[in-house]
Amino acid sequence: MKKIVCIIFIFLVCGCVQRYYNVATRSEEIYFYSTEKEVKIGKAFAERIEKKFQLEDDLLLQQKIKRIGGKLAGVCDRKEIKYSFKLLKDDTVNAFALPGGYVYMFKGLWDKLGNDDALIAAVLSHEIGHICARHSIKRLQTSVGYGILSILVNTAGRMNRLERRKATIGINELLLAYSRADEFEADRLSVKYLGKAGYEQTAVIDVLKILRKEQRENPIKPLAAATHPYISQRIKNVKQHIDTVQIEFNDYINTVP
Ligand SMILES: [Zn+2]
Repeated sequence: MKKIVCIIFIFLVCGCVQRYYNVATRSEEIYFYSTEKEVKIGKAFAERIEKKFQLEDDLLLQQKIKRIGGKLAGVCDRKEIKYSFKLLKDDTVNAFALPGGYVYMFKGLWDKLGNDDALIAAVLSHEIGHICARHSIKRLQTSVGYGILSILVNTAGRMNRLERRKATIGINELLLAYSRADEFEADRLSVKYLGKAGYEQTAVIDVLKILRKEQRENPIKPLAAATHPYISQRIKNVKQHIDTVQIEFNDYINTVP
């Protein structure tokens, strides 16, 4: 009974359920949230992130992340949203995406990438992959996510202390809890978007190796470890995927009369 009431409530609040073929995941999916609502949710989270972390003040670096991100956004599977790419002044070695097109990289990770365009692109395209596959929003469609979401959507900007605490837990849920399958899927999509934007696809492997090294050297940093697990398996999968794409491409060339 409780479940039915909950479902009816979701219908009432969200208006409608959309059935949609997602090019990124190559499957038909059901969304409780329109793109418009997703962007609104992402914006609410983004405002909180930018209160919690300072933006990097080197404008040249901000321009660079925006330029590379914009190039990738132009070739990705979701072009109906406006993407934003920002560098956060913090030594954490990580990057993350919020629903609705908000992508952030910490300066700590940026520095490990040695200002290299292809490596930066590899990180950003992975995060764009999460957005195109709608990983966060799908998680938020679960009952746990729903409680957090209703607070954010309905009270963004005027939260009391308890609500703020719940929203913070929500942010952590979003940032830390991609499944293994989600990570593999974002990696696969990053290979695709890098290729389309003219970057070296093997940059994904190089970035994963950097993250693996970082994880070995600093195993107690929980954020990076939780969001980038199973790195060796991911490297293996990406290598296999790049090889498969290569074979498909060669086959296509061979079959052209
Ligand atoms: Zn990821």
